[in-house]
Amino acid sequence: MHPLYEQMATSVFERMSLAAAKHGAVNLGQGFPDFGWPPEILDAAAGAVVEGSNQYAPSRGLPVLREAVAAHYARHHGLDLSAENICVTSGATEALAAAILATVEVGDEVIVFTPAYDAYVPLIRRAGGIPVEVALQPPGWRVERAALEAAISPKTRAIIFNNPHNPTGRLFDQDELATVAQIAVANDLIVISDEVWEHILLDGQRFTPIASLAGLAERTLKCGSAGKIFSLTGWKIGWLAASSELATLAARAHQFLTFASAPNLQSAVAYGMNDGDAWLQPMRDRFSRARDRMTSGLEAVGYAVLPSASTYFLCVDLAASGVSLDDEAFAQRAVTEAGVAVVPLSAFAEQDPANHMIRLCFAKRDETIDAGVEAMANAR
Ligand code: PMP
Ligand code: GLN
Repeated sequence: MHPLYEQMATSVFERMSLAAAKHGAVNLGQGFPDFGWPPEILDAAAGAVVEGSNQYAPSRGLPVLREAVAAHYARHHGLDLSAENICVTSGATEALAAAILATVEVGDEVIVFTPAYDAYVPLIRRAGGIPVEVALQPPGWRVERAALEAAISPKTRAIIFNNPHNPTGRLFDQDELATVAQIAVANDLIVISDEVWEHILLDGQRFTPIASLAGLAERTLKCGSAGKIFSLTGWKIGWLAASSELATLAARAHQFLTFASAPNLQSAVAYGMNDGDAWLQPMRDRFSRARDRMTSGLEAVGYAVLPSASTYFLCVDLAASGVSLDDEAFAQRAVTEAGVAVVPLSAFAEQDPANHMIRLCFAKRDETIDAGVEAMANAR
């Protein structure tokens, strides 16, 4: 067997969605909403298709979208950006790939906090880098200065920082942001900041982009995704925001990944980034209600649910719920026998995986949540 078969496994999201389809299970595994995309943005996309924006876009993105992303971040987060600082990509996945390929060289170490989104480690390795895992410990999942400092070496080149954090649903606080920022500055590191969940904030929380901290603007590549902001995950329109030098470097890598992304979808996303602010709070309110419904449903059938106040994921502690199976075995049984797909957290770490937890997506209609909870009751 080719050695990369082991190193680059099938993504847990693909694995669980295929299993859900095969067994007719409720899919609470891969993260995507089954409601809630604004109809106006669909009309904008349809208009752009019919009006003829169907040939290659400029590689770095349509100017109208690059300007809209820069203005959106100025308005929401006070970031000082212009179109120069933006490179449009095919989803945040490609933004991550472009950022890593643009900055990581053979032998460079890259810090990832685990549980870590599953794309980071394989991408670092394919760029010739060495992933160095720093484990966040449940149930607090806090960034600890001592653990981060212990992971730094003379070969450390970059930190991938994901805030709000998938899969734990944590929004890191100002102290944790300051810790990451100070260590990045002290060691002259690049920060690849995966902020795709920046608008999915529950319980009235406020988001601070790490690029706004002292010394970070010039060393941060911020990844964003319209899939998350507008509940349109299949569109795969994302972007990088960075200093014009880093944005240009990443844009050069992006030329050889996809070159450009669908222009009609880019113009619809530009409309949303400019005119869609009023959609955000109702979306958060709807996700909060969904989180509460899923949490109380799961608790009523005996599961220990960890708190989640951002993203549309929550974690269940199987051990604390009295389930003796590990996460992978539970996930297999749940999808094949009980009719619900979930994601085992051990898929998000190699060194020190939390293997007694699962992640569920709550961005679902009431009936989907209720069917998922009923199946979870049968999976125990
Ligand atoms: N990073 C994180 C933390 C994510 O959760 C996701 C998608 N769930 C992505 C990146 C990828 O985003 P996209 O679908 O825009 O490629
Ligand atoms: N980001 C989504 C999640 O965390 C899945 C994206 C994908 O399927 N690659 O579930």
